[in-house]
Amino acid sequence: MTIKGQIIKTISNSFTVLNLADGSREVCRARGNLRFFGALYVGDYVEYDARLRIIEKVYPRDSVMIRPFVANVDSLVIVIAAVPEPDLLLVDKLIINANVGSITPVIVYNKCDLDKGLKDKITSQYCGCCNVFVVSAETGEGLEQLREYMQGRLCAFAGQSAVGKSSLINAMYGRQLQIGGLSKINRGRHTTRHTEIFDFDGVRIADTCGFSSFELALDAEKLYLYYDDFMKYQEKCRFKTCTHTSEPDCAVKKAVENCLLPIERYRRYVIIYEELKKNRRT
Ligand code: GDP
Ligand code: ZN
Repeated sequence: MTIKGQIIKTISNSFTVLNLADGSREVCRARGNLRFFGALYVGDYVEYDARLRIIEKVYPRDSVMIRPFVANVDSLVIVIAAVPEPDLLLVDKLIINANVGSITPVIVYNKCDLDKGLKDKITSQYCGCCNVFVVSAETGEGLEQLREYMQGRLCAFAGQSAVGKSSLINAMYGRQLQIGGLSKINRGRHTTRHTEIFDFDGVRIADTCGFSSFELALDAEKLYLYYDDFMKYQEKCRFKTCTHTSEPDCAVKKAVENCLLPIERYRRYVIIYEELKKNRRT
């Protein structure tokens, strides 16, 4: 008899599978036809033979996150804070990357106990494209809503170091989980490491590298597709595939002029667009 489970850890050729019905774990091997690179990722839903401890089948993926590879992540939790000062260009890139991988991005503005007016700026710039949670790991403010959102989802955390990713998990679940512990030491270097999914009473969190810096791999001409907040103006642009940069009669640019879209986010869009064009040339 086979059981449905989710791979929560891989070490070379052995896979720890979480039984989704009863929460038990089994270390399994893969059937021959599933023994090639990319066949099984952490996060994959699988059927496994509990007696023989063999993974027999993998289900199609809803989403894929790359570097590290994690399948079926529901939500990318992008953490920023009052301090250190948020890098909003990085936030925009994280949102784009999540959208490219069919993962829902959310923004968590942490350390709101130290807020000096940044909260409104963040909320107004991002509420058009994703959920924004204003929280404090220190005082507990907003954590109930964030917990509620994360319940039942597989989440991955992203954000600069010291924004409070580990503190948030600790405050919400009473567990120590050092997000990106390794990447802090080896920042910018390509390191291979294990990825693991931690299960805290129905919330699953992928221990990822934090994504404090990365390159977007995308055509500049396709960038507009990943801006949900620009999308509702898109249909009024003269050209269907308008990139909202140099084209005439651009409804997105008009919306920015009329303060219907945040100008700073639009300016960063242009910066990212130019970066992508330059990357292609070099
Ligand atoms: P990480 O690198 O993103 O995992 O960040 P940490 O969880 O290690 O937190 C970095 C620092 O910020 C620590 O000194 C925490 O005590 C502090 N910190 C985290 N959350 C809050 C918060 O909500 N308010 C305040 N005032 N400090 C916080
Ligand atoms: Zn346009």
